[in-house]
Amino acid sequence: MGLASIAPTSGTGVSNPVSLAPKASGSAAPSLPDFYNEAIDGIATGEGVGSCGTAAHRREPVIVTDIAVDPFWNDFRDLAGRAGLAACWSTPILARDGGLLGTFAMYHRTPRVPQETDLALARLFAGTAALAIERHHIEQGKLAAEARATSANDELAKVVRVERELRAEAEQRAAAAAELAARMRAAAAAQAATPHPEHCQLGGAAGCTAPAEIKIADSWGDAAWGCPTHVEEAILNVRSVFIANEELGGLTAYLNR
Ligand SMILES: [Zn+2]
Repeated sequence: MGLASIAPTSGTGVSNPVSLAPKASGSAAPSLPDFYNEAIDGIATGEGVGSCGTAAHRREPVIVTDIAVDPFWNDFRDLAGRAGLAACWSTPILARDGGLLGTFAMYHRTPRVPQETDLALARLFAGTAALAIERHHIEQGKLAAEARATSANDELAKVVRVERELRAEAEQRAAAAAELAARMRAAAAAQAATPHPEHCQLGGAAGCTAPAEIKIADSWGDAAWGCPTHVEEAILNVRSVFIANEELGGLTAYLNR
């Protein structure tokens, strides 16, 4: 036998060309020239598109015994001539569900009519190739599904991690707020006896009628009395503000520095 090649069909949903190099009767078939493989790679299937295009189109073997005169090869005769091909017998590779997977071609350097054993061999190769290609597709599908599952797991892990971080942050904020509230209660208790204005001084232009309970100061030397709400707001929004210490009058420590 001459050359043999398997060509995956294009445009039939076959995404991964399977490259199999069938060996005939223990003799290694010399490979087809690269320029030939490149030229026929991805060629459409159809009636009269060489042996393989036609076999793929018909879903049945197409035996061209003499490329030089066969009308199926009108468009590829020069190409075949340059590759030194004179006969091409093509058998479609069909999936179990009848889907087209590719073609299996046997080439010869001289015009040749196949014997029944040649055709049986071609059927055997095509059948074996179909199993191999289908198995390959199944493996690919499995790998793709596994990759999707891994990626979904990664996404889930990311969401869980972010959720945990947010919860930890919220817990820290709540703890800080509770600590601040405790400090303000302690300050209010300590400062209760100190003379102070009746109303909160921190209400801005709108004013605040809540009782003044806590004295705050800032490092610029200003001090004021406020209600717990406004004091908290000032502490949270102005970095330099602190709860004034009764003994230090809020500012002494800084003023004497
Ligand atoms: Zn207030």
